[in-house]
Amino acid sequence: MSGILYIVATPIGNLEDLSPRAVNVLKEVDLIAAEDTRRTAILLRAYEISTSMTAYHEHSDERCTRGLVDQLVAGDSIALVSDAGTPAISDPGYRLVRAVQRAGVQVVPLPGACAAIAALSCSGVASDHFFFEGFLPAKAGARRHRLEELSALGYTIVIYEAPHRLYDTLAAMLVVFGAGREVALARELTKTFETVKRAPLGELVSWVREDSNQERGEIVLIVGSEQDRAANSITPEIAELLTALAQSYPARKAAKLLSPVVDIRTSELYDFLLEQKRPKS
Ligand code: SAM
Repeated sequence: MSGILYIVATPIGNLEDLSPRAVNVLKEVDLIAAEDTRRTAILLRAYEISTSMTAYHEHSDERCTRGLVDQLVAGDSIALVSDAGTPAISDPGYRLVRAVQRAGVQVVPLPGACAAIAALSCSGVASDHFFFEGFLPAKAGARRHRLEELSALGYTIVIYEAPHRLYDTLAAMLVVFGAGREVALARELTKTFETVKRAPLGELVSWVREDSNQERGEIVLIVGSEQDRAANSITPEIAELLTALAQSYPARKAAKLLSPVVDIRTSELYDFLLEQKRPKS
């Protein structure tokens, strides 16, 4: 009887984000295949797990995959873990899963932390349809080209970004998507310096430029779609309400009062009122 390959999600920062089921499986399997055994050792120590480990990472060759498959076929159970989050999501895993399935061995997922989903869930950006991009190309030209391809998508886009490329990526997005596109930056989730900020792209770029701390740590960008931007903008009903309020209050106060009710920025509402007052040529 062959063993089982467990795909075990591990925390993306806070070590408490490991499910009791994951702890049990990591204790009970014969072997843990880890992307970086030193990183995983920290987690195992915290949970007093003494299961032996082997390295399985993006440079692991066919022989290494074959070895794990043979061990599973012989009856051992193995847990696959990555450095953080869910294996096979911008991390090694799917090749092993395919090889194991080909050998007729059962693959069982143990769901848990995933930076993309955690970021999406707290971003406030529309999440009913989304496209997971993962990492953009590292080279500026290819990255810009990829952003141009993505700009046509009518969905929210989830992007993983390295801190040293953040500013350049935001600047390229500004050119391709425009300053009004809503983007959330989710940084260091579940860690001490956890930060989530959603703003129009132009504002977000200025914010990052003025505070270089925002270019540290681990980052997910959530890009709202053009359609959402339009849907969240000032409808005729909102315009009517705003105009009525502006008859009783100064423009800025009217904008401020309505902003939390309609979830549109005070500045956008205020600009709208100014625009209305401007004589039409
Ligand atoms: N498999 C992982 C998952 O399920 O989230 C993703 C691995 S990928 C190699 C690492 C990237 O995930 C980082 O560069 C960053 O973009 C994102 N990430 C990981 N941990 C994060 C955190 N705590 N906060 C924000 N982003 C994080």
